[in-house]
Amino acid sequence: MDYQTLLDEIAQDIVPYFGLGKVANYIPALAKINPQQFAISIATLDGQQYSTGQADTRFSIQSLSKVFMLSLVLGRLGDSLWTRVGKEPSGNPFNSLIQLENENGIPRNPFINAGALVVTDLANSLYGEAKAVLLDFLRQETGTTDLAFDLEVAHSEQQHGDRNAALAHFMKSYGNMVNPVDHTLDSYFHSCSITLSCAELARAGLYLANHGLSPISGQQRLSRSQAKQVNAIMLTCGTYDAAGEFAYRVGLPCKSGVGGGILAVIPGKLSMAVWSPALDSQGNSLIGLEALDRFTTRTGLSIF
Ligand code: GLN
Repeated sequence: MDYQTLLDEIAQDIVPYFGLGKVANYIPALAKINPQQFAISIATLDGQQYSTGQADTRFSIQSLSKVFMLSLVLGRLGDSLWTRVGKEPSGNPFNSLIQLENENGIPRNPFINAGALVVTDLANSLYGEAKAVLLDFLRQETGTTDLAFDLEVAHSEQQHGDRNAALAHFMKSYGNMVNPVDHTLDSYFHSCSITLSCAELARAGLYLANHGLSPISGQQRLSRSQAKQVNAIMLTCGTYDAAGEFAYRVGLPCKSGVGGGILAVIPGKLSMAVWSPALDSQGNSLIGLEALDRFTTRTGLSIF
């Protein structure tokens, strides 16, 4: 498979889509990002990497942090995690409060904001300071030492974080937040603010493609079965209320973030990342979906 040629072709194909969609505008730090940017990168289990576009430009990982935080918690706790958070698709926007009351403060899944806040609360209980452990995890899994929080983004999230605060306090009223809510929110906002490039993100996902064992750090991050579980939840919940559309068009476990990044995994083969900041109405990268659709359609590589 000539991945490089294919990626270069996809980069040409998506050009007409520039101008569609909108960059995230709930905080000024993200609203000012130039939407006319695109990158795609593939990291294979046999150690090759192919990229095109601005693959070394760092962007805000936002909800992509949820997949790594979940891995840290699931890897340590195992199935007892599922008493605190569900694993069913929500069919609702990522920041929705609507299902929490009917479900007694147990969020539908770890990839909507409510679920990620519970996972972050658990991570703080398990690790002390989850945001630092997450940053360290990403440094090891990308093989890069200079990763950092974007403090402008983290503070801006805090200032505009009323909905996340509402979610966390609401869950606390059901006893589903153990640590002080302000600490959990601080950890969550900082986790979302980490910046990675597309090339780094593709490498960071390799343990998910390799049944939990990272070829980068050499660490068994998840058991084989847990890696399957995380991939399954990415497929069903990783792109929120567009998870059906992504399964239909892309056919891979995917996780998105409102910074415009999407991670996609082909178990047993490769991890890929795509980035373009303009989002569709569900908060997923519009061009990212177009690019991933083309990749799996042309290669025939998908989990189906
Ligand atoms: N920081 C964002 C929020 O909490 C993350 C959302 C996302 O990427 N979908 O609203």
